Amino acid sequence: MNLIIFGPQGVGKGTQAKLLAEHYGLKHISTGEAFRQSISENNEFGKKVEQYIKQGEFVPDELVNAIVAKELAENSQGWILDGYPRNLPQVEYLNKALEKFGQKINFVIVLSAPHQVLKERMLSRKEIENRSDDVEKIIERRLQLFSEKTKPVLDYYNKLKLVRVLNGVGSIEEVNKYIIHNIEDFLKNENMV
Ligand code: AMP
Repeated sequence: MNLIIFGPQGVGKGTQAKLLAEHYGLKHISTGEAFRQSISENNEFGKKVEQYIKQGEFVPDELVNAIVAKELAENSQGWILDGYPRNLPQVEYLNKALEKFGQKINFVIVLSAPHQVLKERMLSRKEIENRSDDVEKIIERRLQLFSEKTKPVLDYYNKLKLVRVLNGVGSIEEVNKYIIHNIEDFLKNENMV
C-alpha cells in the first residue's frame, strides 16, 4: 500500500506518518527529515538545502525530487510519503516516477487543524526539538506557502477521489486510531469498485 499524508506544518503529520509506517510495515519517506539529517551531518547536500529551510522557503524541486525517486525505487513493498509533493511540478514528477516503477497511490490523508492550534504546536515543538524553522515569522511563511502552493496539490488528488480530510486535533493515539479507521474504510470501498 502506498499513502500520502498532507497537512500544514504543526498538524502532527510526521508523528502520524511514523505510526502508520509501523502499523502497516511501510517505508516512511519524509523529505523534511531527510533534509534535517543531511544538515546535521553537515554534508554537501545539507549545505545546499540549509538556507531554504531556515527561511521557511521550499527547497528547489530538483533536490527534493532526487530524494523521492531514490526512495520509491528502493521501497516497492509500500511507503508513506510525508511532506511531498508540495507543489504541482512535484506532482508531475511523482506521476512519472510512479509510472516508471509501476506503482500507484492508494490513499491520501489530509490532516487539518485551526491556524492558531498549528502555531501553538509549532512553538511548543521548538522547545523540545529546537528546529530552526519553528520561529514565529518563519512559521507564518511556511503556513502561507502551504496555502499558496500545496492547496492546489490537494485539489488535484481530490479530483482523483483519493482524499479524505481528517481532523488532526486530539491526542496522538486518538488521531492515529481515527486515521487507521479511515484507511480501512477507504480501502474496503476501493476493493468493491
Ligand atoms: P517538513 O518537515 O515537511 O515540515 O519540511 C521542513 C522544510 O523542508 C520545509 O519547510 C521546506 O523548507 C523543506 N521541504 C520539505 N519537503 C519539501 C518539498 N516537498 N518541497 C520543497 N521543500 C521541502
